[in-house]
Amino acid sequence: MATLKSVYPLYLNNVAQQPNADLAVTDKFTGEVAFRVAQADAAMIDAAISGAVEAAEPMARMASYERQAVLNHCVSRFIERFDELAYALCVEAGKPIKDSEGEVGRLIDTFRIAAEESVRMTGEVQPLDIAPRAKGYQGMWKRVPIGPCSFISPFNFPLNLAAHKIAPALAVGCPFVMKPASRTPLGAIIIGEVLAETDLPKGAFSILPASRGGADLFTIDDRFKLLSFTGSPEVGWDLKSRCGKKKVVLELGGNAAVIVDVDADLDDVIERVLFGAFYQSGQSCIGVQRIIIHVDIYDRFRDMLVARTKALVVGDPKQRETSIGPMIDVKEATRLEAWVKEAVAAGGTLLCGGSRDGAMLDATLLEAVPAHCRIVTEEAFGPVAVLSSFTDFSAALVEVNASRFGLQAGVFTRDLFKMFDAWDQLEVGGVLVNDVPSYRVDNMPYGGVKDSGLGREGVRFAMEDMTEIRNLVVRRA
Ligand code: NAD
Repeated sequence: MATLKSVYPLYLNNVAQQPNADLAVTDKFTGEVAFRVAQADAAMIDAAISGAVEAAEPMARMASYERQAVLNHCVSRFIERFDELAYALCVEAGKPIKDSEGEVGRLIDTFRIAAEESVRMTGEVQPLDIAPRAKGYQGMWKRVPIGPCSFISPFNFPLNLAAHKIAPALAVGCPFVMKPASRTPLGAIIIGEVLAETDLPKGAFSILPASRGGADLFTIDDRFKLLSFTGSPEVGWDLKSRCGKKKVVLELGGNAAVIVDVDADLDDVIERVLFGAFYQSGQSCIGVQRIIIHVDIYDRFRDMLVARTKALVVGDPKQRETSIGPMIDVKEATRLEAWVKEAVAAGGTLLCGGSRDGAMLDATLLEAVPAHCRIVTEEAFGPVAVLSSFTDFSAALVEVNASRFGLQAGVFTRDLFKMFDAWDQLEVGGVLVNDVPSYRVDNMPYGGVKDSGLGREGVRFAMEDMTEIRNLVVRRA
């Protein structure tokens, strides 16, 4: 098994620095301090922003093959360091080792996609002679990098969600300053370690763990031209209100639903729903939280799902057979346990799970939960899902939409018309047909509506956000 160092630096203007070892990061399963990381203060964040401003011009001048070479270097190094990266995730996030390996695979995909896209940033030639006054005019536009970017990432995908900001920035030539989540900073730090091996212009990147209180410059400093934030809706919308003139992309939370229609292949659906609901202890923004099942198959589906859920191996994420590890901390597990108890007190039925040991919460299923309970209306962000039934497909669509969130939704159906109805009517950023909402490939447009966010990630779409269109108009005199 790979090993980790006891202390890690931060990266300020491309360079590893060890001003302190203030941030203690725990192994989320044992609760013991696993390693320490340097933490930035406001002066370092300020220096990183100044460095990014200076790097903006040399980065914009980099040829696309040079940007591609940096991204390809990252791909090779991540492949070489695969086991170490997976182990780091397993320790700092408590993510089961097989899922940690899956995330490293996606990190590699994301950088590989960015390497390909970096040489494809095209513009358009546009005829402007649409009226006599524009006769002889020709338009052309291209994309130019927006400039210094501020990135803030959450705890649950420490590598791949950092990658969804870093790789597109490198692909278009934007310098960036990133604040990783304090509970899981190592993924981004290792990306920094690999970037420091390249000859990016000085100031091209800084990766600065920082306390929430000290991180205000990431939001308010006007030298940043874009804030890309992934995290909770409460924090995201608050930051947006204090962002000034910069562009803002918000990738926030949800309480994703899946509809299981009468013609679904239940064995297939159950396996996918198990993954969707309990992957990484349900701590995914597109984790399955609401399962809406056709009434004719409801009892069979419920009994099969409960039996498979009870058989999931809960425990040490370093063991290969483990499917469910700890939640990120005891506070979060206690919060969710209280929501389960609230649902039962309100008349809901506990089908399985519900017990907690420290940060470990059993895989939990509920049914007949009143619609006002928090386990239905809020983001669970843990291993709990709620079952309900429908008779009319259009009523199921209404139920999915009865949420302040709208990230992705899943629909299991073989009916083409229902598929298009779902695509037309569901208020979400993406509809997954014959899969759970938790499915994502890293080149697709990804993001939410309503309280779930603003804008889209997915490498090409993030690249668009990190550029401005610069127009050229030519009059043939
Ligand atoms: P969080 O909002 O608590 O923290 C996210 C990041 O913001 C962390 O780096 C945190 O340190 C930082 N932060 C918090 N307050 C800040 C402040 N005032 N100024 C600057 N930075 C601040 O979220 P979390 O608990 O790390 O992650 C879980 C949330 O993220 C869930 O709501 C989940 O749905 C969401 N999420 C969304 C997506 C998506 O792509 N839509 C993906 C993963 C997670």
